[in-house]
Amino acid sequence: MTAHGLRLGAGRFVAGRTLDEFVPIVRSLNGEGLTVASAILGEGVLSEPETRAVVAGYRELLERIAAEGLRANVALKLTHLGLAIDERLAAANLRELVARAAALGNFVRIDMEESAHVDATLRIYRELRGLGLVNVGVVLQAYLYRTPADLEALLPWIPNLRLVKGAYLEPPALAFPRKADVDRQYLNLIKLSLKGPGFTAIATHDEAAIRHAIAFAKAEGITPAGRFEFQMLYGVRSKLQRQLVAEGFPVRAAAPFGHAWYPYFMRRLAERPANVAFILGNLFKG
Ligand SMILES: Cc1cc2nc3c(=O)[nH]c(=O)nc-3n(C[C@H](O)[C@H](O)[C@H](O)COP(=O)(O)OP(=O)(O)OC[C@H]3O[C@@H](n4cnc5c(N)ncnc54)[C@H](O)[C@@H]3O)c2cc1C
Repeated sequence: MTAHGLRLGAGRFVAGRTLDEFVPIVRSLNGEGLTVASAILGEGVLSEPETRAVVAGYRELLERIAAEGLRANVALKLTHLGLAIDERLAAANLRELVARAAALGNFVRIDMEESAHVDATLRIYRELRGLGLVNVGVVLQAYLYRTPADLEALLPWIPNLRLVKGAYLEPPALAFPRKADVDRQYLNLIKLSLKGPGFTAIATHDEAAIRHAIAFAKAEGITPAGRFEFQMLYGVRSKLQRQLVAEGFPVRAAAPFGHAWYPYFMRRLAERPANVAFILGNLFKG
């Protein structure tokens, strides 16, 4: 699987193995009118030197985006920067990257991971904002019961939020087990955030939710510029991405590159059982 996974299916979701493979893909997405959230694959790093290598990788990515004039920002996972070993280490690593991004006129999004990391992630986000860094955003997950309260608490920061449904397996004590409840909470969060003072990245492939958001924004007189954008994953519902661009909406494709694709790919399979059939089809083809 590790040797052949990219060829067999994971390659659909992964924008190259190296930065040199990644850059032309970003350029071509930009050419189609999409901006990009770029990420280096990886998470759950358990050694400090390894986190320093990740920081070096992201620094190189930020420099390259600037040098090539790409329309791309950066998204990263705090466990890639050491959150699972030491909150202070992850915070320091992130601060270095956000400061470098600020100097380059760029922006860093902190992905949201398993529920055990939510408090620390929000703490680190607030800490950076408290230091005056504004080019940083965070993610909230609709499947968690706690999220409306988290959103309310963040509004005074005029936050840049990405709203997602949530990708991890969480216990029913913490997250809605039924999809219908997640979908309902997702729409409510979109409304709450759009009415707030910050920026909302509506990150979903759910066209009904997207159409709801568009209708709500229109009814409230909220235009996208500086207020909201849509985000989807590279390799998922590409036609819908282009259609929204054609309709005049800002759309960002979240595109990861690198070698550590396995957990990322497994989450993509879990989101849509049909993807498993797709990979099995490839397996039999070759
Ligand atoms: C830009 C972006 C960033 C994200 N960041 C995070 C994060 O930081 N933390 C986090 O927990 N989660 C994150 N996610 C994942 C998210 O939580 C969901 O797991 C994922 O987006 C699937 O839910 P959905 O909103 O697309 O809606 P769903 O209702 O699950 O899907 C709607 C439709 O989209 C299509 N679709 C959805 N997923 C796939 C797929 N994998 N392959 C093919 N088709 C698919 C299907 O046609 C499906 O019917 C992110 C998602 C996006 C788009």
